Amino acid sequence: DRALVWFRRDLRADDHAALYTACRQAAQVYAVFVFDNDILAPLPRADRRVEFIRESLVDLDARLAEMGQRHGHTDVRLIVRHGRAVDEVPRLAAQLKAQAVFAAHDDEPNALSRDLAVQQSLQAFGCHMHTVKDHVVFERREIMTGSGTPYGVFTPYKNAWLKKVNDFYLRSYPVTRHAARLAPWPQGIGQPGIPTLADIGFEPTDLATLRLPVGTAGADELLHDFLERIDDYGRTRDFPAVKGPSYLSTHLRFGTVSIRRLAREAWQRMQAGSQGAEVWLSELIWRDFYHQVLHHHPRVVHRAFKPEYDAIRWHEGAEADELFEAWCDGRTGYPLVDAAMLQLRQSGYMHNRLRMVTASFLVKDLGLDWRRGEAWFARWLNDFDLAANNGGWQWAASTGCDAQPYFRIFNPVSQSEKFDPDGRFIKRYLPALAALPAPAIHAPWKAKPLELQAAGLALGRDYPRPVVEHDIARQATLERFAVARSTR
Ligand code: FAD
Repeated sequence: DRALVWFRRDLRADDHAALYTACRQAAQVYAVFVFDNDILAPLPRADRRVEFIRESLVDLDARLAEMGQRHGHTDVRLIVRHGRAVDEVPRLAAQLKAQAVFAAHDDEPNALSRDLAVQQSLQAFGCHMHTVKDHVVFERREIMTGSGTPYGVFTPYKNAWLKKVNDFYLRSYPVTRHAARLAPWPQGIGQPGIPTLADIGFEPTDLATLRLPVGTAGADELLHDFLERIDDYGRTRDFPAVKGPSYLSTHLRFGTVSIRRLAREAWQRMQAGSQGAEVWLSELIWRDFYHQVLHHHPRVVHRAFKPEYDAIRWHEGAEADELFEAWCDGRTGYPLVDAAMLQLRQSGYMHNRLRMVTASFLVKDLGLDWRRGEAWFARWLNDFDLAANNGGWQWAASTGCDAQPYFRIFNPVSQSEKFDPDGRFIKRYLPALAALPAPAIHAPWKAKPLELQAAGLALGRDYPRPVVEHDIARQATLERFAVARSTR
């Protein structure tokens, strides 16, 4: 019998749960990816993520061909469609006379309803849809409290995760062993080949000039580089000017690397005594944590995890809109915040420490609704992931699960002094401040006139004055949260 494997955010050929399961169960296995207009339509025409996907498909196609060749099949290829996935997948399954479609679980609300629609269309001609876990180590109801409820606090979740994990959960799905089942290119469905960006209505971006190599080869390169540094991760990860983190998030987002492989690498090193690996594994567990939060509480997509904070009256109106624009454009007058926002625009990446600083600044210094910032990040982050982004924003806004308490408010200047002490990161993105020494670089409005003069800097001309005063903003935030708490 025949099966179709539908690739979505799992763009690799090996250690692939759905492809492996299909190859174990069906005699002939086809692979498809759909450029889904339901997802692509709202995106800007130049979007690094679309290019990342496109380039990673070229790699995936080649790997499938290579696997086929090893088993004597010369024309195993990836089928790529452009249209609405809800139409294209059932149409192709019918053309191929497939009895089953295999895919990985995707617990985002839109993905769940899409998959349900596809499943219903397939049923009409007797084809079944099977979905399997692939994106996380533990999902859905796999880790629950003793009383059978989902965890809402990270540390006990992490402890339960670490208690449960073992070689079985981290094992690879060795597709290569069963790749003889990969079927050659079928008759009557057009020619193989990956559409160009222009074919799907997109424009090229600057992806090739960023330090973000694509496909599984790109993920391997980043992973090898990171494993050389992983032991230092705990000490380096908070300093944005230092190469501390793995930069693997976009690969995790699109599945060009397997989470099991990463967790295995970290877990084994942790057991061998690496503290850096232990801290890094914890970050991977945060990722699982937020995925299960989204699964159990899909309302977080629009609302606060803690319902009392839905009553907060955020700063709105023309002045709020101007503040929002200043934040987006990196013109707040707080150098670390501005440099971070420019990093996001110029590269599609932002360091984790800076995501926390800029998110906190939007909510607690500008008084703006966290959903505005969340949407901006969703637009620009190459690694944008609904579960992690929403979790991160609600954490920073104190509205979330296991969030920062509302009265803990980052001071953007002391964050800057602590995590970018020499202003190295700031200078990379704000050349206007390049000649300003620390500590003035963290708060240029406090610099002495002579310092400004020596740096050739006129505030208000070369670099903005601060759009808000932190101490006043802090007070306003405490009141804003207090009012919401008292009305519950
Ligand atoms: P590393 O430090 O090398 O971490 C390894 C991996 O662990 C990451 O690739 C990521 O998959 C996972 N991870 C690390 N920290 C977290 C975390 N706090 N929550 C969930 N997973 C984590 N991460 C995203 O992948 N997509 C997002 O859209 C996203 N939005 C965020 C928004 C805010 C406001 C905040 C505070 C954090 C957000 N994060 C998001 C989490 C984190 O900032 C990024 O995962 C990390 O910076 C990516 O860089 P890296 O791969 O070099 O990370």
